[in-house]
Amino acid sequence: MPSYVITEKCDGCKAQDKTACQYICPNDLMILNRDLMKAYNQEPEQCWECYNCVKICPQQAIEVRAYQDFAPMGANVIPLRGTDSIMWTVKFRNGSLKRFKFPIRLTAEGSVDVYAGKPEPDFSKLKGPGFFNNPARTE
Ligand code: SF4
Ligand code: SF4
Repeated sequence: MPSYVITEKCDGCKAQDKTACQYICPNDLMILNRDLMKAYNQEPEQCWECYNCVKICPQQAIEVRAYQDFAPMGANVIPLRGTDSIMWTVKFRNGSLKRFKFPIRLTAEGSVDVYAGKPEPDFSKLKGPGFFNNPARTE
């Protein structure tokens, strides 16, 4: 079941160039309606419920209708990000609550260099098998 935006809470990330949910979605699903300044999931059927947008939204404006095996009907799972930890609140359908707190990495958003320490790609090998960062063969 896909993520959805609670429009009353969404402030469009205060008109930043790219909203937090747009920045984080690995599937480029979130989009901002600039007239309304509200974000929405433009292709819900493509959402894989990774919760990234839910976790990053500064307004807690995104929720996911979780699959029933994960969060049965009437239950929900709400993450709240702090500076060094994330708190998951699980609300069961009988109303009981459980909270789980985990540390998070302290790398600043947008500062991860995924290619750090990797060799430059050799384009002459573009049509060959393997990946550009395969370790050199020893035999
Ligand atoms: S991250 Fe949250 S507040 Fe920002 S645009 Fe997306 S839903 Fe709205
Ligand atoms: S739950 Fe994941 S895949 Fe779905 S819209 Fe949010 S960030 Fe994208």
